[in-house]
Amino acid sequence: MKPILDILNEIDCCGCGSCAQSCPKQCIRMVPNQEGFLYPQINRDTCIECGLCQKHCPQMQEPVHRPMQKAYVVQCRDVDRLSRSASGGAFAALATRFLDNKGAVVGAAFSNTLVATHVVVERMEDLHKLQGSKYVASDLGDVYSRVKSILADGREVLFSGTPCQIAGLNAFLSKKYDNLTTVDLACHGTPSAQLFDAYLKWLGKKHGGVIEKYRFRDKGPSGWGLVGSFACNGTTTTLNPYCDPYYATFLRGETYRKSCYRCKYANLDRPADLTIGDFWGISQYSGKHDFTEKLGLSLILVNSEKGRVVFESILDKVKVMDLSVDEACAGNGNLYRPTAEPAIRDVIYKQMETMSFDELQRHYLAHESPFMWRVRRIRRKLLPRKLRDFLKGILRF
Ligand SMILES: Cc1cc2nc3c(=O)[nH]c(=O)nc-3n(C[C@H](O)[C@H](O)[C@H](O)COP(=O)(O)OP(=O)(O)OC[C@H]3O[C@@H](n4cnc5c(N)ncnc54)[C@H](O)[C@@H]3O)c2cc1C
Repeated sequence: MKPILDILNEIDCCGCGSCAQSCPKQCIRMVPNQEGFLYPQINRDTCIECGLCQKHCPQMQEPVHRPMQKAYVVQCRDVDRLSRSASGGAFAALATRFLDNKGAVVGAAFSNTLVATHVVVERMEDLHKLQGSKYVASDLGDVYSRVKSILADGREVLFSGTPCQIAGLNAFLSKKYDNLTTVDLACHGTPSAQLFDAYLKWLGKKHGGVIEKYRFRDKGPSGWGLVGSFACNGTTTTLNPYCDPYYATFLRGETYRKSCYRCKYANLDRPADLTIGDFWGISQYSGKHDFTEKLGLSLILVNSEKGRVVFESILDKVKVMDLSVDEACAGNGNLYRPTAEPAIRDVIYKQMETMSFDELQRHYLAHESPFMWRVRRIRRKLLPRKLRDFLKGILRF
């Protein structure tokens, strides 16, 4: 039997760690590479070449085919939960249903030092830890094994994460559990934890302290969008995504794990029972719904019979509008194809090995100055798109 590293190179491995958690000899550790992404490292002295690591690797399995999907736009009715959510609070509504039934909910939380890690939540007062998008790779640690033991105790589990993390869980468990429901995200891709950590230290230094809290999506006064916020020395500052070196490069897809650019799950054959994401296209349906757009809207895809049953059980917690799958997914490119890998991606990570984050952001992490961003916004408001395209055409000559 070939050891896993002969087959799973750094391009295909998604870092879920199913191999490490499946190894009967505990001889696989997940170790960061020079870019800061986790990869399996085998202790060949203790490896018995049983092949379980390969058997439980999601990247070596055929994806499931989902012929009967349904799509909905939803908004959580609980305004407090909705305000903490990145989009329409679909996740909070689902999680509440499981916690109400004494089940466990699993997802990505920031630790006190802002490291994204998958944790198990069993009390309603801890749900806020999982809410909100953390646009960085989340460390799964031994969470698959913990989920397996909760399932074996007969309790219900809602497991949430990126599609490759769900595929990793499915491959690790390698059998169906009636008491497990999975929810994956429409996902662009994830930057490395090391890049995020270097950025946070740089941001803290710039603001004369340590970053205590960080939110990629803060609805605040501007409402639903991509605006974030961070707290340093007790002061909260708004984060403009286009003027921030980490966030701007994340949005342009320049800093993802290698496997994200070849993602097997960036299509409608989803590994999870349910898929959630942002739904940006509501302006086309004015007069046909009673959502408050400013509070955020989620897209939900129902991918399985279990997903349907769970979705129907939260209908009292959400406002809903049904759509065709094509309508619901239009404008959400990662439900059809992976992000394209730009040439700058490898340059950024190569330079990160030797440069400070300050040098890196000045030379390689392109972002706008707040002044240029304002100019661009005013130009966009004053000139309609057709006129801008026309003027651009003239200027090219
Ligand atoms: C890395 C990443 C890329 C994304 N890309 C897209 C995209 O291209 N298009 C799109 O429509 N939506 C994308 N999303 C999803 C979007 O940001 C919202 O999370 C989604 O709309 C759900 O919002 P909500 O209001 O229902 O719940 P929220 O409460 O905002 O979402 C929380 C959920 O996100 C999960 N989560 C948060 N951070 C991570 C992480 N680092 N790793 C794994 N799971 C995490 C939590 O476990 C929980 O399930 C992405 C999310 C992440 C984390």
